[in-house]
Amino acid sequence: MIAAGRVAERGKRVLLLEKNKRLGEKLRISGGGRCNITNAEEDVKVLLSNYGESEKFLHSAFSEFGMKDAFNFFESRGLPLKVEDRKRAFPQSEKAIDVVNTLTSYVREEKVEVRIATPVRKIVVSDGKIEKVVISGGEYSADSYIFATGGVSHPETGSTGDGFLWLEELGHTVVKPTPTIVPLKAKNAWIKSLSGKTLTGGKITFYLEGKKKFSQAGNILLTHFGLSGPTILNCAGKVADLLYEGKVTAMIDLFPMLDIGGLDTKLQDHFDKNKNKTLRNAMRDFLPAGTADGLLTLVPTVDKEKKVHSVTKEERRLLVETFKELPVNITGLMGFERAVVADGGVPLTEIDTRTMRSLKDSKLFIIGDLLHIKRPSGGYSLQLCWTTGYVAGDNA
Ligand SMILES: Cc1cc2nc3c(=O)[nH]c(=O)nc-3n(C[C@H](O)[C@H](O)[C@H](O)COP(=O)(O)OP(=O)(O)OC[C@H]3O[C@@H](n4cnc5c(N)ncnc54)[C@H](O)[C@@H]3O)c2cc1C
Repeated sequence: MIAAGRVAERGKRVLLLEKNKRLGEKLRISGGGRCNITNAEEDVKVLLSNYGESEKFLHSAFSEFGMKDAFNFFESRGLPLKVEDRKRAFPQSEKAIDVVNTLTSYVREEKVEVRIATPVRKIVVSDGKIEKVVISGGEYSADSYIFATGGVSHPETGSTGDGFLWLEELGHTVVKPTPTIVPLKAKNAWIKSLSGKTLTGGKITFYLEGKKKFSQAGNILLTHFGLSGPTILNCAGKVADLLYEGKVTAMIDLFPMLDIGGLDTKLQDHFDKNKNKTLRNAMRDFLPAGTADGLLTLVPTVDKEKKVHSVTKEERRLLVETFKELPVNITGLMGFERAVVADGGVPLTEIDTRTMRSLKDSKLFIIGDLLHIKRPSGGYSLQLCWTTGYVAGDNA
């Protein structure tokens, strides 16, 4: 939308083809419906350092249309922004739909011809260059083509990877996105101290900014970097989405089948049978194998060497509450450098990044999630869309 609007603003005739019945489906769900529209880091060097190896390719594009330009673009069109922690910028209204509306108004005012519910079925290539695009019952050719078909995450929003297939036909490399079936990084001393041990029969619940999001039951492997094992690997995709929206924490419940009262009774019975053991020894056959010493560090106020018959009711209660809610601070996904949440697409070495023009076909421009740029959560993905979209729109 930003690319189409910008080309039209320069007096060109523009046709925007969208397969969905309305524009901006993915934008509507971005940032949990609040849309983290950009990252308000004013130091361009610091901002660009978040794009890893791509940093060196992005200076020119960002000097043409950077974060401040994105701020101006939206605020001058009646969408005031606000900045939250980690410099994440959102519309003051906290409504992603307002971002969609601002962009659709832009496109309309600049008289872009928009055809919704019009999927491009295929492209026709001749001599390695794009000749035309084919829709149901018709085809179009043009002086310039801008591909903005997105990546492959959340295909229900329309991004089903069509653009990647076309780009391969045109001789471009398409780097596969890093799969989000990965371990989770966590920063908790108790986890590190129990590296190599498995929490059996537990349940992990994930929270976004303190609000409960989802749970998964199963064995959890503790490692020196965080959490792993099949239960965790299967959660990674959802956690990646949550990391777009804010701080992610988790709680592990070691006894999900029992409520606090039930677990207290079970522990009391265990203590009755092991009256003269020290707490440390008694817990060894109550908790998953090899984890007692590490888990007891979570209750520093309770003396582990005292005999269980002298453990007070309050101390027992504290133990029970701790085993029901082992704290985990998720800091990112393993295998994704610097907590990267997205990548995959055409490498920037195949693009003239001053214009976003393809180096394989001078009529073609490639923008947004089609580009292979590793990036973390925090507004960096959409800023790339605004930058690359505007720059392509200035040159197509
Ligand atoms: C859950 C979630 C939350 C996110 N939240 C944020 C956030 O808060 N901040 C942030 O910076 N980033 C966020 N992102 C990332 C951000 O949404 C994307 O980087 C951005 O939407 C990419 O824009 P795009 O225009 O490249 O592609 P898309 O938004 O995917 O748009 C591609 C469009 O092309 C259309 N299309 C595809 N194929 C065809 C075809 N054959 N013919 C016609 N049309 C076609 C699709 O229907 C779609 O409308 C989030 C991503 C997800 C999955």
